[in-house]
Amino acid sequence: MANQFEVVVIGSGPAGYVAAIKAAQLGKKTAIIEKWVKKDGKTTWGGTCLNVGCIPSKALLQSSEMYAEANHGLDIHGIDVKSVKMDVSKMLARKDGIVDQLTTGIAGLLKGNGVTTLEGKGELKANKMVDVTKNDGSVETIQAENVILAMGSVPVDIPPTPLDGSVIVDSTGALEFPEVPKRLGVIGAGVIGLELGSVWSRLGSEVVVLEAMETFLAAADKAISKDAFKTFTKQGLDIRLGARVTGSKMKGKKVEVTFQDSEGEKTEVFDKLVVAVGRRPYTEGCLSTDCGVKLDERGFIFVDDQCRTTVPGVYAIGDVVRGPMLAHKGSEEGIMVAEIIAGHNAQMNYDAIPNVIYTHPEIAWVGKTEEELKADGVEYKSGAFPFAAIGRAQAANATDGQVKILADAKTDRVLGMHIFGMNASEMVAQGVIALEFASSAEDLQLTCFAHPTLSEAVHEAALAVDNMAIHKVNRKKR
Ligand code: FAD
Ligand code: NAD
Repeated sequence: MANQFEVVVIGSGPAGYVAAIKAAQLGKKTAIIEKWVKKDGKTTWGGTCLNVGCIPSKALLQSSEMYAEANHGLDIHGIDVKSVKMDVSKMLARKDGIVDQLTTGIAGLLKGNGVTTLEGKGELKANKMVDVTKNDGSVETIQAENVILAMGSVPVDIPPTPLDGSVIVDSTGALEFPEVPKRLGVIGAGVIGLELGSVWSRLGSEVVVLEAMETFLAAADKAISKDAFKTFTKQGLDIRLGARVTGSKMKGKKVEVTFQDSEGEKTEVFDKLVVAVGRRPYTEGCLSTDCGVKLDERGFIFVDDQCRTTVPGVYAIGDVVRGPMLAHKGSEEGIMVAEIIAGHNAQMNYDAIPNVIYTHPEIAWVGKTEEELKADGVEYKSGAFPFAAIGRAQAANATDGQVKILADAKTDRVLGMHIFGMNASEMVAQGVIALEFASSAEDLQLTCFAHPTLSEAVHEAALAVDNMAIHKVNRKKR
């Protein structure tokens, strides 16, 4: 029957659309439901990641990085550039063009793989029935053998700084400022705060980041976060740790923010304020009370290691379930679930998910931090190597940062790789492969790396694990 499917996916972000394509590739009759309507009234595919997340933010990071390079980074090469100007509207148009191209591409991929696309809001009912409320208000009910819930996440709001869509905005608003704000406040020195703070700082904003925690980037390895804090501060980001925002007041077209730090109450006035204090799973109106799917205490859909919910045949993936809110994590879960539905034996290695923060230089890591290993009582060896001693980094004027590798003291197995440096996002894939293949530090030591490359720092860090680095003096003699 037309309204019966073997797989119905709710939400077309990187978790949902990948699951739908994979399920269709595995021969399942698949439908995907998406509710996101653009300003032009048309449905858009690809979720947060493609529309207002990973892709547009990286487009702006690239443009702003090129502007900063042209302004301050070419001199050293003997290149004299006069009067570098930024046309913000052109930069935003380029970003929008990339988003259009990629979201249209997803629609094409879904069609090309034979996935039925349904436009509207999906709601899971009892017995794996799904209601689709179309944009005109009509409701279509479809029957699913299997349902994959992939509704994603939305930004967290905090009462002291209610969004007004113009001066106080979330990450989506921060991708759209029509001009460079003179003074930009950012609440939260997390991934979004650092990435979008960097964009506008490079374009000339005076950026103040207010972070409630005393620790900078607590999830990262301490050696890396320390290094990064120093570099970002030198670049001009004014990061205030231990600053808890308590209120805000509009002052004409500006906003006055009140915050509390160790010295007491303080205020700052900003032209724009970005609230970037985390994201929460989105389930409102998506699960009927009798559908049987349970949430955990933090509002995420409760799932097991293979993304099964409390209802047989109903799965949940991506930001709407536990684990890091990352596009590639959601996509991998989507593939795993599609395989399971097709009767294959599939599982995911949650210990080898890379994290990247696209600042300049980038921060990237996979596996355990030194602090986590200490807390777990694991005996480990550690090796680090600075980019300053890498020829290619010198040539690229990219000498900030280091690679740090952690390995098990007894088995030599690589447990973590932490990088702060140019192209860390690309280099960390070497760590992911090392973890996936259960490599030892010795495996990396015995691998031939091309010269001159930034990745030689990975090789040297692996050698340093056993005090065998060639291009630096080792801590201990062997
Ligand atoms: P989403 O991408 O949120 O997609 C969910 C989709 O479901 C949406 O399209 C929504 O409209 C739809 N939906 C919800 N409910 C319904 C319903 N009832 N019916 C129909 N449709 C529904 N991650 C990275 O890995 N790398 C990055 O560089 C990165 N950068 C980011 C930058 C920013 C500014 C932001 C905000 C996020 C970034 N992320 C990044 C995080 C990444 O975007 C998310 O982890 C990812 O999009 C989650 O994918 P998802 O498919 O679970 O959900
Ligand atoms: P985050 O969790 O990374 O950072 C939020 C920060 O805000 C934290 O440091 C937190 O201590 C701070 N905070 C919370 N409440 C505060 C308050 N009242 N006052 C001051 N500071 C406060 O969240 P985010 O940056 O909003 O990003 C959301 C999610 O999106 C993340 O989970 C991330 O995984 C994902 N994301 C990923 C990327 C990437 O992979 N490059 C980029 C952007 C976003």
